[in-house]
Amino acid sequence: MSTLATATVDLVAFSDNVATVQRCLTGGAQLCAVVKANAYGHQTLPCAKAALAAGATWLAVSSAAEAAYLRSNGIAAPILVMGAISAEELTIALEAQADVVAWSEPFVEAIARTGLPARVHLKFDSGMGRFGTRDAQELARVAAAVTATAELELVAVMTHFATADDLEDPFFSEQLTRFTRLAKELKASYPEIFLHAANSAATLRQPDSHFDMVRCGIALYGMDPYGKDPYAHKLKPVLELHSYVASIKPTAAGESAGYGRRFVATEATNIATVPIGYGDGFRRALSNNSQVLIGGQRYRVVGSVSMDSITIDLGAQPTVTTGQRVTLIGRDGDQQILAEEMAQWLGSINYEVTTGLLPRIPRIELPSEEQR
Ligand SMILES: *Cc1c(COP(=O)(O)O)cnc(C)c1O
Repeated sequence: MSTLATATVDLVAFSDNVATVQRCLTGGAQLCAVVKANAYGHQTLPCAKAALAAGATWLAVSSAAEAAYLRSNGIAAPILVMGAISAEELTIALEAQADVVAWSEPFVEAIARTGLPARVHLKFDSGMGRFGTRDAQELARVAAAVTATAELELVAVMTHFATADDLEDPFFSEQLTRFTRLAKELKASYPEIFLHAANSAATLRQPDSHFDMVRCGIALYGMDPYGKDPYAHKLKPVLELHSYVASIKPTAAGESAGYGRRFVATEATNIATVPIGYGDGFRRALSNNSQVLIGGQRYRVVGSVSMDSITIDLGAQPTVTTGQRVTLIGRDGDQQILAEEMAQWLGSINYEVTTGLLPRIPRIELPSEEQR
């Protein structure tokens, strides 16, 4: 193996997930593929291209720089910048011909001051309590300001759900009701606008939330929006994370492995050292608290996760040999470690597991560009 640790990104599985999500869309809703944060750690450009090839018609990112990156790499599809944009970043977003989100009159004035043509989506805060305005009258004033400015085009009204991933929580349907009411009112005044609200969790559970477009990220990467089992929704995990056994060391009772001696052998065993660590995004909270797959078997990560390595307890009679592949996320034989399982070890969510993989890990597209 040429590299210490690598992540494979299965673009066939990704395209299948795009198709799976698309099959559940109702009323002709379009699919906007969310590729922010390096496509949740999966690499922006290959995922953006694969999403569009598989039938997504829009892309969404969080920042102006992400939009500019897509445009400068030849992406022609509409791009929505969903996050906050500073005055400096506005020019970057608009020069990249990305659509922007607005919810205040001063921001509309800032857009106008750039002198650039701009397509604007209004953001209604129906309950997320982050970006957007809760005030329907303010949104109506912002809509009027957009349509009154020559260079600006009012394109859509949107919202974002806070609890769509929690099937028990009634707040989701409350948000949906609030947004539906507001959207009807706005559409009466501006019939040309379109509506979008759903993330992956809403898309999979609630056809009423699809409106004219859905904005899906996590499901396309083959992770479960509800944090449990992607296969329950016919989603295929896209990313696998691998390293290899760099050394195997017989370890006697009383001998330790790693910083702080947080593992001390209680009986004779063998410790494998695997060259991946928190410098790669294999988080230190996984110390003495996680497993890996080698040769189709599960083994415990013992001791502290270092910046560049982890130590694995192979037991007294190891069948593992030096050089063998180690799977940190993914399938090996009958065993599989999902991002969802790693998230549980971390007390986190699947989103953070793949998004947290650091640049030192090369992402390898499957099939490779030559094979496609
Ligand atoms: C990230 C994001 C999404 C995508 O959410 P998933 O749960 O990954 O499908 C949709 N809308 C907004 C505003 C977002 O920030």
